Amino acid sequence: MSELEKIDKEFVLHTYARNYTNFKSGKNATLLDENGVDYIDFGSGIAVCNVGHGNERLSRVICEQVSKIIHTSNLYLIEPQAKLAQKIVKESGLDARAFFCNSGAEANEGAIKMARRYGEVEGKPKRYKIVTLENSFHGRTITALRATGQESMHNYFGPYPDGFVHAKNIDDVYKNLDDHTVAVMIELVQGEGGVEPMDKEEVKSLEKVLKSKDILLIIDEVQTGIYRSGEMLASNLYEIEPDIITLAKALAGGVPIGCVLTTLKDIFSPGDHGSTFGGNFLSSAAGLEVMNILGELKDSGELDRSIIYFEKRLRDVCNKYSTLFDLEVGLGLIRGLRAKSSDIQKKVIEESFQKRLLLLKAGKNTVRFLPPLTISKYEIDEGFERLIRALEDI
Ligand SMILES: *Cc1c(COP(=O)(O)O)cnc(C)c1O
Repeated sequence: MSELEKIDKEFVLHTYARNYTNFKSGKNATLLDENGVDYIDFGSGIAVCNVGHGNERLSRVICEQVSKIIHTSNLYLIEPQAKLAQKIVKESGLDARAFFCNSGAEANEGAIKMARRYGEVEGKPKRYKIVTLENSFHGRTITALRATGQESMHNYFGPYPDGFVHAKNIDDVYKNLDDHTVAVMIELVQGEGGVEPMDKEEVKSLEKVLKSKDILLIIDEVQTGIYRSGEMLASNLYEIEPDIITLAKALAGGVPIGCVLTTLKDIFSPGDHGSTFGGNFLSSAAGLEVMNILGELKDSGELDRSIIYFEKRLRDVCNKYSTLFDLEVGLGLIRGLRAKSSDIQKKVIEESFQKRLLLLKAGKNTVRFLPPLTISKYEIDEGFERLIRALEDI
């Protein structure tokens, strides 16, 4: 055991089953450890590093911003925050406003507060219930955890706030709507739950029904947002206009940030909600450059080409190793291989790591692929060579 591993184990709370490789630097989808050994990163720090590691444009913007001003608080104008909000709203295609915070869970908390605020109308019974889906993941705070539909995560931490119902699937959502329901919150591709895309027509019908009943549609795009689906938002791909969208992970390329986007432009008044760090100079400047970089990647056609190529390579692996995998799942660059068992899932990830390829698990039996969106063809090929070598050894 290295000295650092000992220190980490002694002083850091054991919330993650951690791998002790000591990564020191990275370039795009390639990471280098302390011995200069290279790894291909098909995980992007869990859908965060969409512009890759060591991105020169992003690091230049961050360094310039940090050397001038990092934080003043939301009591004063923050130029990059205003510009980032404008950029996100413009690229989303929605008539909306943005609120900034620091994480996915915090963004979802904000969305839930917005919904509850919306449900409070003078002289009418309070509407407060939010329907979410089984197998969903919405974050780790008490309320976001309650919203999360994976029951196995609910041990130990109760009592939870009231007002959350879990539906089995979109069809089952309708049966769970009542006079107290104010919103339905879903992911368009369940990420942690196992790379499970929702059916587009089902989502579009749901949107219509909810609009007719004045029930809000909240889309958790913490994982699918910021071009991961191939479009700026998965909501764009699904051709829906949700009332509230949450973002986080990739928005600032690794600088902590969260965002709640809403068409309810006047839902909050000063004092209703806030976040000390939210949208400060550092995270907003980083977010703005990430949006610029990925917008150009999309417009040049390069992102679409990478998606098509990645999918082809993954489908070929799925077909060739049909003794290990049942299905190739996902869309854009949120992809998965459905393994025949959780044991195979574990072996594939471990053996790939031995071959210096980083992969993620999702759900009970899915191997998840979330490469940087800027990944080069060479890195895709190199990653798949390593994956194939790993699969040959299983
Ligand atoms: C990661 C994730 C979250 C939680 O984000 P944190 O930044 O870890 O709080 C919420 N929803 C979805 C869909 C996620 O993938």
